[in-house]
Amino acid sequence: MLAGGKKSKTKMTTTDQQNKALIDISQRKTLRTVAHMVEQGLLDDVLNSDAFGELEKKYAIAMTSTMAQAGQTSEAVRRQFVPSVTELRVHPLEKEDPIGDETHAPVQGIVHRHPDRVLMMPTMACAVYCRFCFRREKVGSNAEGAFDAVAALTYIHEHPEIKEVILTGGDPLVLSPANLKYLLDGLDSVPHVQRIRFHSRVPVVAPYLMSDEKIAILSGTRKPLWLSIHTNIWDEMSEQALAVISRLRHSGIPMVSQSVLLRGVNDDVETLVSLFDNLLNIGIKPYYIHHMDAAEGTAHFRVPLDKGLALMEQVQKRVSGLAIPRYVLDIPGGVEYKVPLSRNNVRQVKDGIYTIMTQAGKSYSYQDFTSE
Ligand code: SF4
Repeated sequence: MLAGGKKSKTKMTTTDQQNKALIDISQRKTLRTVAHMVEQGLLDDVLNSDAFGELEKKYAIAMTSTMAQAGQTSEAVRRQFVPSVTELRVHPLEKEDPIGDETHAPVQGIVHRHPDRVLMMPTMACAVYCRFCFRREKVGSNAEGAFDAVAALTYIHEHPEIKEVILTGGDPLVLSPANLKYLLDGLDSVPHVQRIRFHSRVPVVAPYLMSDEKIAILSGTRKPLWLSIHTNIWDEMSEQALAVISRLRHSGIPMVSQSVLLRGVNDDVETLVSLFDNLLNIGIKPYYIHHMDAAEGTAHFRVPLDKGLALMEQVQKRVSGLAIPRYVLDIPGGVEYKVPLSRNNVRQVKDGIYTIMTQAGKSYSYQDFTSE
């Protein structure tokens, strides 16, 4: 258990050893090595074993049994979780910390970029490790650093301007029910915090982690709690995931989605229309689709900005207004809020160079790139 009552000074850390006690580890098989993926027929026999060895040392690997099953028939699912040696190529514009989390981190596990909101990252572990992740240098059960729940809650207590706390990571829904409850009780007790939000991929990629106990804890907060589910393609949605989402909906938790626009995964109109339409049909409002952040070794996933704008124009003609997410970009370096992108505020200056106007009327130069 994380802490409670007099034990409230207990530190919650994300070291490999302590993750064992803290995380709701499933007994089900998660694929964690290249060899496991070859065994399961998700990856062709590895020709360049040295490069794959380097990759395994550099980045965390995990594909849950749910995603491995979906990956048997969907290349778009495999592409998101099965490692590729292409990840070892780093484009000059890619960065370890593409959206500048570090520059806004007053205490470990808190990012305070917007005056009225903070990100809280209680763990850097995830159920899966997405090959395009913008925090790929930090996520993983071996991730260094420690989350001190007391220090994080104290910081939030001491900043009355904070109205919303967004639990992210890593994936906060890999935490055990006891640790989730501890954090949510702590946030419920801060008078100025008005709402709580979770960003998670767990209900889709590891639905078996969403126990009744965990859902009851999420739906039992005094303050409104929103759940933003990361999903990129309808192929990811299993019967078990649909059942969990239905239970979440019936327990009264409002849900939105966030997706990333990814080459070879969802960069065509039909795939996006299917995703957004189907999400709305199961009670999830499509909220964000992200233009990719420039994390190292991910350029092969990038969709040109101009193509992203054209795709979203087409999608808007095909779906209900409720099913349209905002196409957004984090200006590199963490200097601005998420900027919604459209032809109205994005102007191409020359090949790959854009001027982007924010909602606050500030103008930024943005260099788009792909792996080609
Ligand atoms: S679940 Fe989220 S934080 Fe974890 S690897 Fe995927 S994108 Fe990154």
